Amino acid sequence: MVTSADRPYIGRFAPSPTGPLHFGSLLAAIASYLQSRTANGRWLLRIEDIDPPREQPGADKLILDTLESYGFEWDGPVTYQSHFRERHEASIEKLIATGLAYPCSCSRRDLATAVRGPLGAIYPGTCRQGCESSDVAIRVRTHGNPITFTDRLQGRRTMQLESASGDFVIRRRDGLVAYHLAVVNDDADQGITEVVRGIDLLDSTPRHIHLQELLDIPTPSYVHIPVAENAAGQKLSKLTGAPAISIDRASRTLVAALRALGQTTPQELEAESLDEIWAWATQHWQINRLSARQNIAPQHYC
Ligand code: GLU
Repeated sequence: MVTSADRPYIGRFAPSPTGPLHFGSLLAAIASYLQSRTANGRWLLRIEDIDPPREQPGADKLILDTLESYGFEWDGPVTYQSHFRERHEASIEKLIATGLAYPCSCSRRDLATAVRGPLGAIYPGTCRQGCESSDVAIRVRTHGNPITFTDRLQGRRTMQLESASGDFVIRRRDGLVAYHLAVVNDDADQGITEVVRGIDLLDSTPRHIHLQELLDIPTPSYVHIPVAENAAGQKLSKLTGAPAISIDRASRTLVAALRALGQTTPQELEAESLDEIWAWATQHWQINRLSARQNIAPQHYC
């Protein structure tokens, strides 16, 4: 595995423009930002706009405006994942040319009876030896060797992809590039050394490491932070109706978020300016305070 050790720290926040920023995504933004700042590194902002059916017009602008009004300062211009489409396609073509990926014409219905694993239906390999149709997805081959990595908060993780998901889709039948393929290419192209994101993506990481190995690109370090949940124990997301965070009470919400991230902020901090709060946070940030937690319950929000 090519690792990111010894390269200058570059972190990132990579929201999908599916809706406004909610408290859960704010936590990922803060954790990745403070990891970068305390390492004297760069913090990049990348809008992951490669799945138009799930996106909401104007959400990118709303997210950027909100981040700005909370005092985040990103390095360099904001990038849009859709602009890297040619490079994503080049990686897919490279995998096909070397026999590591192949066309698959199986429909959802064809896979309805497939055995289910931890990541959903395990692809039974139907099209591994070739398929006739031109209406196809592209799948990458997986193997039976375990993929192991150590997450800074969640510890050592191992997954055998062949039995967890089987060969997985890197370009969908509708022609859209899959998130897994896009994210590993962009993280490598942007020189990302550490990925900080929600624990809901922890199970995606072995697929990312698998792709990094096949494409011969570096594997960053990974830190998966607990996700914020609503009162019903569901992950805060657009699907579960998570409300947008308000820009009116940014200081209060920022301090509540720091507390939700396990930081022991002084009582009077929320009365301070955003600059003061960020200065305190940069000086006191300790990501390890999140170690033993899998989720962040609603009493932590403001
Ligand atoms: N775009 C993804 C999301 O908004 C995050 C991807 C990542 O951080 O790797 O959930």
